[in-house]
Amino acid sequence: MKKLVILGSTGSIGTQALEVCRRDGYKVVALAAGGNIELLEKQAREFKVKAVAVFDEIKAKELKIKLADTDISVFSGIDGVCFVAGMEADIALNSIVGIAGLRPTLAAIESGKDIALANKETLVTGGDIVNAKAKEKGVKILPVDSEHSAIFQSLQGSPQKSVRKILLTASGGPFYKKTRKDLENATVKEALNHPNWSMGAKITIDSATLMNKGLEVIEAVHLFGLPASDIEVLVHRQSIVHSGVEFSDGAVIAQLGTPDMRLPIQYALTYPQRSDYAFEHLNLADIGTLTFEKPDTQTFRCLPLCIKAITEGGLKPTAVNGANEQAVKLFLEGKIKFLQIADLVEKALESVNNKKEFTLDDILETDKLSRECVLKNI
Ligand code: NDP
Repeated sequence: MKKLVILGSTGSIGTQALEVCRRDGYKVVALAAGGNIELLEKQAREFKVKAVAVFDEIKAKELKIKLADTDISVFSGIDGVCFVAGMEADIALNSIVGIAGLRPTLAAIESGKDIALANKETLVTGGDIVNAKAKEKGVKILPVDSEHSAIFQSLQGSPQKSVRKILLTASGGPFYKKTRKDLENATVKEALNHPNWSMGAKITIDSATLMNKGLEVIEAVHLFGLPASDIEVLVHRQSIVHSGVEFSDGAVIAQLGTPDMRLPIQYALTYPQRSDYAFEHLNLADIGTLTFEKPDTQTFRCLPLCIKAITEGGLKPTAVNGANEQAVKLFLEGKIKFLQIADLVEKALESVNNKKEFTLDDILETDKLSRECVLKNI
């Protein structure tokens, strides 16, 4: 029975990961979350974990009191989250949202366990450092993001050098076919109304701006070692073809399935085996038509901004990510308009003091400066 640590257990991916654990009987040894201690307490009791970590120090104190009748240890702050990330287990599944997941990913790798990675911001900001550390420690990074899981599955059994390009699919989000004029007064409610996937608020807004696809291009560069120019983004409204690979002989291999994150979560945990899938199976005859088209990069500028950032390299992807995290927060709070997100990301991208060689501290500093750049420019 595999032993797991789940970081971000109270979120959309975290709760679905626990559903898979519940069904497949994994032993969950530790959990971490930001501040939702009501749910974290329930999860900790149900899975009889050894430890939990809460990023919010005050909430961690409250949880310690709530769990006083158990022998579950409660840790707090970023150090506490990193501590549980490093606890003895076979796999750490990281589904924390944002760059907050980077240090816990590194802590988990440092402890020598494989990573099932949903937290794309880990690779967007720290891809080079994370890959180097994973190589040094001999740990696998198993993608949970559905597109990257699909690419990973499509690559099984074929030599990496025969890959011609990656086909990265995008649903197009709630604002598919909208013009810039239509989006001038787009509301939070409209942006949160994703057609195919039920996800956390940040990634749902990222899907509406196509920032999510831009972050995924960067994530794919780090996971699969191809330049951004070899990654083709295709809008595929049905979210059935989760992504694929074109090989040098012209063969295209893709992974298809219902839009359900439990499948890529499960595959990351069973890899290289496959277990039975107890959820809804794909019925292609019912779906009938699958469509593909180029994305509208004039309206959805975050996608080309991410491609520019990863092409220029260094700290630019971190700047784009940090600015986006701050801008999305402001949009969700009703403090900026939808189209301002891309404008603010662009400003941060232009203002970053770039370096080709950099450390974790440089990444964290760039993240901070990019957030400040956004706040100065609203
Ligand atoms: P949610 O917002 O639903 O959940 C985020 C989780 O992170 C929560 O458990 C939250 O805790 C926790 N968290 C936030 N800040 C911290 C912190 N500083 N320290 C520790 N934990 C923290 O997000 P999603 O589940 O939607 O997404 C998680 C990640 O997975 C993102 O990187 C996203 O891009 C990626 N992803 C998500 C997909 C999806 O379908 N949702 C699909 C593919 C990738 P709390 O609840 O206590 O605040």
